[in-house]
Amino acid sequence: MATPMFRFDPVDLPPEALAMRAEVREFIKEHQHLMGFSRGEFNRDFSRAMGKRGWIGMTWPKQYGGHERSAFERYVVIEEMLAAGAPLSAHYTGDRQSGPNILRFGTEEQKQFFCPKIAAGELTFCIGMSEPNSGSDLAGTRTRAVKVDGGYKINGSKLWTSNAHRADYAILFCKMAGDGKEEPDRHAGATQFLLDLKLPGIEIRPVLNLLGEHHFNEIFLTDVLVPDNRLLGKEGNGWNQVTSELAFERSAPDRFLVLFQMLREMVRMAGLDPDRATAAALGKLIAQLATLRSMSLSIAGMLHEGLQPNNESAVVKDLGTRYEQDIPVVARQLFPVEPELEAVETYVSMIARSTMNAPRFSIQGGTREILRGIIARGLGLR
Ligand SMILES: Cc1cc2nc3c(=O)[nH]c(=O)nc-3n(C[C@H](O)[C@H](O)[C@H](O)COP(=O)(O)OP(=O)(O)OC[C@H]3O[C@@H](n4cnc5c(N)ncnc54)[C@H](O)[C@@H]3O)c2cc1C
Repeated sequence: MATPMFRFDPVDLPPEALAMRAEVREFIKEHQHLMGFSRGEFNRDFSRAMGKRGWIGMTWPKQYGGHERSAFERYVVIEEMLAAGAPLSAHYTGDRQSGPNILRFGTEEQKQFFCPKIAAGELTFCIGMSEPNSGSDLAGTRTRAVKVDGGYKINGSKLWTSNAHRADYAILFCKMAGDGKEEPDRHAGATQFLLDLKLPGIEIRPVLNLLGEHHFNEIFLTDVLVPDNRLLGKEGNGWNQVTSELAFERSAPDRFLVLFQMLREMVRMAGLDPDRATAAALGKLIAQLATLRSMSLSIAGMLHEGLQPNNESAVVKDLGTRYEQDIPVVARQLFPVEPELEAVETYVSMIARSTMNAPRFSIQGGTREILRGIIARGLGLR
């Protein structure tokens, strides 16, 4: 029998995960003033409150501040939070990828130092991968680390770093400086560091997005001295480590639930007796959402089993971002209005925000073309 190319086993949420739903909705009700489509996504107090409830680092070992809950319970918490428009950014990167990467590759000291703080909602991580001229081509990174006494001296720059201006640490992807000769293996020397963003030599400059908001940044590193104990994993193992980090980044339901509130608003506007075309268009969006959710749950199942569903994650991210980009298009067809960011009417500002946000969905976390390359490899076509 041929080996299946992709694995999307159907998964039913176990009773303990379903039981979480009411608990999370109650929490959301208590924090209603912080929820919503256009309210800021970044709120350390909210992250601390989630940390206190044990909803960050849910699946991590207790000895590192985790709660040893299942991937399904975590899924329900995230799903409910995203659907309500909760501000998750202050802890989300740490919870989704930096913490798990530290648990997988970090030293005992690093696990004990970082993971409990992330789980408490006290420590914010950002992702230091992309650079000018090396976004998709991550292996082309030009940031260089040189071994010096007691640590590493790092020079280079990073670009599009979300939340760097309010984060505490970045996981920095770079290469060990070589002898200047061209390396035949483009992944050789790749290395990751746990970079304290307050170290001397680090300058963080804002880059405004299409909405004119300060969300991402450029980081300049000039002779930044990182101590030995902040090397993550092994020198030269960075490519293997970053690939694992990207799989965590791509596997979450935030890849198709960001505009859920807008979908809900469209259903409300359609009313109880929509015309056939409206019913068909909304029905299609809802059916697609149900399918994406099943696929994403199946990935949660694989993570629960300790597998690395890299190809499946790429499929869900590609389909999920396509879906999210379709929502404002369908909205404009069904309920056309003049978009206005500052409009008082919810739908009018939603359509403005979502239209201007939509291009980013298929760029961040790996562009559509790059994901399709991964999928093609998964199918044995490359
Ligand atoms: C909202 C947002 C937040 C982000 N946050 C972060 C962050 O926190 N940390 C971080 O490190 N990065 C972040 N990024 C950066 C993001 O990961 C990169 O923008 C992305 O990887 C693309 O890289 P690039 O911009 O250099 O484009 P390029 O790599 O130059 O790509 C340009 C175009 O060429 C296509 N292309 C490139 N190579 C190939 C190829 N081999 N085959 C086919 N087509 C190709 C791409 O698909 C794309 O359409 C963020 C981006 C956005 C939009």
